[in-house]
Amino acid sequence: MESVQQQTLADSGQQDGDKRKHGKPKRRLPRFRMVLLAIVVVLMAMAVFLTVKTHLATRFEQLDEADQQTLSQYAKFAAATEHKGVWRDFPLYRQPVVSIDTDTHSMYLINPEHEPGWLFAARITMPQDSPLKVYRLSSLTPGMQPILRNPLSGNFPQGNKPLPTVAGNTVFWQRYSSKKASQDPAQTFLALVSHESFHKLKQEQWNWDGSEGDTGRFFTDTLKGKKLEILGEGYESLTIAQQELGKKTPDVQQVRKGVTGYLDAMDRLNKLDPEFVRKYAGEETYEGTAQYVRDKAVRSTGTTLRIMHFSNKDNVPFSYVVPRIQSGKMDASFLSSDLVYETGATLCEAMDTVGFDYQTYLDTAKPGNTKTLLQLARTAMQQ
Ligand SMILES: [Zn+2]
Repeated sequence: MESVQQQTLADSGQQDGDKRKHGKPKRRLPRFRMVLLAIVVVLMAMAVFLTVKTHLATRFEQLDEADQQTLSQYAKFAAATEHKGVWRDFPLYRQPVVSIDTDTHSMYLINPEHEPGWLFAARITMPQDSPLKVYRLSSLTPGMQPILRNPLSGNFPQGNKPLPTVAGNTVFWQRYSSKKASQDPAQTFLALVSHESFHKLKQEQWNWDGSEGDTGRFFTDTLKGKKLEILGEGYESLTIAQQELGKKTPDVQQVRKGVTGYLDAMDRLNKLDPEFVRKYAGEETYEGTAQYVRDKAVRSTGTTLRIMHFSNKDNVPFSYVVPRIQSGKMDASFLSSDLVYETGATLCEAMDTVGFDYQTYLDTAKPGNTKTLLQLARTAMQQ
């Protein structure tokens, strides 16, 4: 303590001496200290206020309506998937997750493995039948600072970096907007976290043959004339499967017929533009499986979320897309940004319907032997 003080005084003296050379008065130092003290007091008061606030109103019924919605949906999901996950060996309900509402700024640590410390976390008393362990996190939680303070941190953990440690737990975190969630079932915390965490927790373990581009966005500028026409025929056929899968008990033969027509069209397109189909199939596998997981997670809570769901319309037929691209009403980039998510999810559901285990294949495929959903669906439909 003493040495620190001496050091400070010595430094100050030096500084003061310098200042005097420029004719500055000596009195600045105490004023500077007063300001510093005031800042420290204000910061401490804020810290105390935020810590106390974290520990107030901790019963589920006392939470914000929007927070209750988020936690009840997640609780339904956890209860529904406790014995059978939405994907083979992907127990998301056991993964510690942090929800960050960008509208209300509330932040919860859900299902931690290790009890978080008292200072930054307060246990929420959930309804008796809830399978969730929930803690409200203070905005001062040290592990969350790099995420909360960095405007470039994004909406979920990006890249191949390890997951952060928050309050003693390795967590997957996800930002969402409760305002958007109240209007669109695809924008809830559960919908977003199930899709994004699948990329991170599951697909990072998968092997991918070929370049990294297989899992990135593909370009659609070569897709014109005959090629676009063939793709349109594929989507016409896939619409048959889509409609069938939307029913309570889908007709397996119709599903087979619809998917096979799509696979045939993709084979024809492959002869004309193999580079396009290679990239399309890669992204369809990457995004389609994550979308399938999202749809299954949301549906497990009793919420309707059908294939080709968009914020303004649910269950848009696949056949709707290509004619609109051809007439210039829609940009072909929609195929990469949205459509392959849906075609891929459809292939997964179709393979479920015929009883083909594509999940084990994707999870365990060795390098040099990996397959896309298009390739797996071909085998599945021939069974
Ligand atoms: Zn994705």
